[in-house]
Amino acid sequence: VKAPRAAFAAFFEHQKRRITGNCGLIDPLSLPEYVATGGYFALAKALLERTPDDIIAEITASGLRGRGGGGFYTGRKWETAAASRDPRRFVIANADEGDPGAYMDRTLMESDPHRVLEGIILAAYACGAGEAYIFVRHEYPLAVARLRRAVGDARAAGLLGEEILGTNFSLKVGIIQSGGAFVCGEESSLLQVMQGRRGEPWPRPPYPAQQGFYGHPTVINNVETLANVPWIIARGAAAFREAGNADSPGTKIFCLTGDIPNTGFIEVPLGDGARTVVERIGGASPDEVKALQIGGPSGGIVPYTDFALDYSSLSTAGAMIGSGGLVVLNHSRCVVDLARHLSSFMADESCGQCLFCRDGLARITGLLEELTSGKGAPGLIDELAELSRAVADLSLCALGRTAINPLLTTIRHFRSECEAHLAGICPALSCKPLIRFE
Ligand code: SF4
Repeated sequence: VKAPRAAFAAFFEHQKRRITGNCGLIDPLSLPEYVATGGYFALAKALLERTPDDIIAEITASGLRGRGGGGFYTGRKWETAAASRDPRRFVIANADEGDPGAYMDRTLMESDPHRVLEGIILAAYACGAGEAYIFVRHEYPLAVARLRRAVGDARAAGLLGEEILGTNFSLKVGIIQSGGAFVCGEESSLLQVMQGRRGEPWPRPPYPAQQGFYGHPTVINNVETLANVPWIIARGAAAFREAGNADSPGTKIFCLTGDIPNTGFIEVPLGDGARTVVERIGGASPDEVKALQIGGPSGGIVPYTDFALDYSSLSTAGAMIGSGGLVVLNHSRCVVDLARHLSSFMADESCGQCLFCRDGLARITGLLEELTSGKGAPGLIDELAELSRAVADLSLCALGRTAINPLLTTIRHFRSECEAHLAGICPALSCKPLIRFE
């Protein structure tokens, strides 16, 4: 009985649960329970004591960066929309979470929907938006139901609708269910779908914060990003920066999965070492961990060392923190085959507008199938690297530009494993065509 209890304690002890603190502890259907934990305090403080410019200045000072993958500074996005002369502005919560194995946004929306909603209302107040939408994937019916309930309860309590809390600020919030295409998590593609068009990204600029939904300034923030906003407004930018580091302040939610004893939804300060997460929280034995696949299918595959989990460290390794998928791989996992699998996923999800994304990813997947089946020709690894760089350089949107990250990080960090496949050997004994019993 002691061992599971100790693992349970370790799982929580090394986390810093700021924005996930209510998850599993309060009734997500209860507005009073959210208020009892300090909920809507930040909204009251903002509307009654602070100007929209003050709110933007606080978010800018906090250094909050987009948690959906891009890592763009939230304050800058808000400043752009707020500076527009166009009086019709929108805020959109991007809840089209599509990375395989990632459920950060889903858990927040299902477990603490009012926190997400409060972040949306604060963003709208700061940017001068009168309408907001939550773009949520249709595969999340429970999240949709709970968000609908939260919107209805907030409206009934005077926290949404006309003249919120007796001020002259009014806001309508709508919920839109997406069709579930991976590319629709990309901002311009998301806007196309919301306007009734095909989910095909458009060239930027103009950025959505300049000209977005029906041509009006539109701030699009990921759900986790918005969930951080009430915390920052309630406690201040300096308190927010007490976790994380100068480049990557605050905490980040990760979905920890793979070959470890303790898997699940965790929140840790950005900049924590990978070993803290994998060994202390995940309970892994260091000798058994070979690599980490981080940031979803557009993140990367990196060798297991004690690198910092933040934006700059992962960028140095050629990877991305992405939205927070973190898959632990043991020595029986073939990273080359994993790169093939992720490449195949991205090739399927390409919207098809760009030649190099559409045909280049399909070609890369075909070449990786040759490599993992022992049919790779000499020079194949260099060919793959060159083709990947072309796809990255000649793709219109982030899907194409980052789809090759798992392959390029595999070639960079596991080149000898790639070369072994050329020689007909899978060092992980995982690629079946290459396993021979002689
Ligand atoms: Fe579509 Fe790929 Fe081009 Fe993005 S890069 S617009 S997903 S074809």
